[in-house]
Formats: sequence, structure tokens, C-alpha cells
Amino acid sequence: MPELPEVEVVRRGLVSWVRGRIIERVDVLDDRSIRRHALGAGDFVGNLEGAIVADVVRRGKFLWMPLLDATAGTADEPSGNGRPAVALMAHLGMSGQLLMQDADVPDEKHLKVRFRLGSRDGMPEQLRFVDQRIFGGLFVTSLVPTDDGGPGGLAESPLPLIAEEAAHIARDPLDPAFSFDLFYRRLRKRKTGLKRALLDQGLVSGIGNIYADEALWRSRLHFARPTDTLRRAEAERVLGSARDVMLDALAAGGTSFDSLYVNVNGASGYFDRSLNAYGREGQPCHRCAAAGIHALIRRDQFMNRSSHTCPVCQPRPRNGRW
Ligand SMILES: [Zn+2]
Repeated sequence: MPELPEVEVVRRGLVSWVRGRIIERVDVLDDRSIRRHALGAGDFVGNLEGAIVADVVRRGKFLWMPLLDATAGTADEPSGNGRPAVALMAHLGMSGQLLMQDADVPDEKHLKVRFRLGSRDGMPEQLRFVDQRIFGGLFVTSLVPTDDGGPGGLAESPLPLIAEEAAHIARDPLDPAFSFDLFYRRLRKRKTGLKRALLDQGLVSGIGNIYADEALWRSRLHFARPTDTLRRAEAERVLGSARDVMLDALAAGGTSFDSLYVNVNGASGYFDRSLNAYGREGQPCHRCAAAGIHALIRRDQFMNRSSHTCPVCQPRPRNGRW
């Protein structure tokens, strides 16, 4: 699955190409890719044709495009009733790609949905959803008011609206409206282990297994640390570390372990991560090595996956919670 930085790379890439453009025509080439749209292909197409893509918004790993009725103004100059009510939701899954292509580029082998956009100088005409393994998909959903009145997520022109499917998840560490106070209050109330809390999308969204391990390593905290014993400064440290790891990945153009993942322009994502913990079982801890200490990263079973820690600089707590 793409991690948050990869989805953010897609958002940034996509928004410059599609924002403010009208969707003139939609071809659904494989119904399986719109299976989450309960009302079927006819309704899916009917909702999209003639709509203007107002923006591309992301919260956690959720990505959506709010849609404006073309008769109600444009994205840059919405008319009085030009507030978007619905959005096109995109789940990339394991292998989903959003590509901008010129009309004369032959169809990709796994092309599932094609959008023909209103022409614009120097911009490709088509947005294509390509998905080899069909775990991803597209559907139209309602926009609902955010529960805190803040923006729905990261966007070019933020509105206090959020795609219904994303309304239950907390803000992610890259969201300017993220409230540390709220996060810390909720964290202290959870009687759980720190990594389990970091992976809890209701507490903070967008942190997957890899980024959790890296954030814990950077902040020198063990994954089993009971959250109700976490001091404010420690919580700030681990959250700041999660943000830093994500920003580093973003600066590198997004990262992914999945060779099927490509970014919105079709170029391969950045693969060579500088990981310190994740996937480094049995290898020396970089920080300890720099201090002349011999310590090997260890791997523990955790929630059907793995956790990677340095036994020296991330000591296991007493009464740890897994
Ligand atoms: Zn270490």
C-alpha cells in the first residue's frame, strides 16, 4: 500500500493538472474498479460528466477531488451556490496509478477508467486510472462538514468539508490544522502501547508500519511504551519524528516498496530510502554505531506484522503493552 508521502506526491502532482478543469467524458472500461460505487457505472458517469474538478484533497491516505457543478461557476470563481457537494474518491490500493496522458497515447494494458478533460494549453487531455491488481478503485461520495470546522485536509483551497469515508479518521501529522493538544489528551486516555496508538487512525492518521518504526527509532522510544505513562515532551518528540520522516520522504519524491507504484506523471517513485529501523533486522543501529556502541536492530512480532527497534537506544519498558 502506498504510504502517506506517496499519496501526497500524487496529490501535488495531480492538482496542477486537473484543478479547475471540466470532466467532459468518462469511460469505465472495467466495472470492478468502480465496485465501491454502489449505484453502478451509469450513476458514476452521470455524476462526473459535466463536473469541474475543484481541488485535490488528502487526509491520511485518503485522496478525493471535490466536484463543482459546471453550471454553478468555476473552481477559481465559484458562484453563490458553487460549494461542492460531492467528490470523486480515489483508492490507489496496491497498484493503482493516476496518469495524465495525451489522447494519442495508446491505452495502458490495465487501464480501467478514462476521463477526458476540457482542453488546456500544454496539458494532457486525459486522466487515466490504471490498476493491475484491482485492489484500488474510484467512487463518488458525499462531502460532509468537518467535526472541528477546520479544513477537510491538505488542499490548494481548503474548505471545511470532508469526504464521508474519511470523516472518521483523525488529522495526519502533515495537516496544518492538526491539534497536538487533542492528540495528547486522547493518547493519555488510551490504555495501550505507543505503536498501537500511532497506527490508530482515530488518534492520528496516515502513519503506517514503516513510518511508525522510523518515528519511534528517531525519538528513542519503544513500541510497547504504555501511552498513559508518556510525558508531553515524549509525545511531541514521537509525533515530530513521524512528521520529519514523512517530510524527508516527500523531499525525496515519495517512497515505495512496490515496484508497481508510479507517481501521477508516470515516473517511478523514489525507492532508495534511508531507513534506520524498518527492515534492518540484525544490522547495526546507525546511532549506536556512531557512538561506538555495537547494537543490532531486532525484530519482534507485532499485530501480525513486525516491529524493528534498537535494544540499546530504545530500551524495552517495564510493563510494556503490545
Ligand atoms: Zn541504537
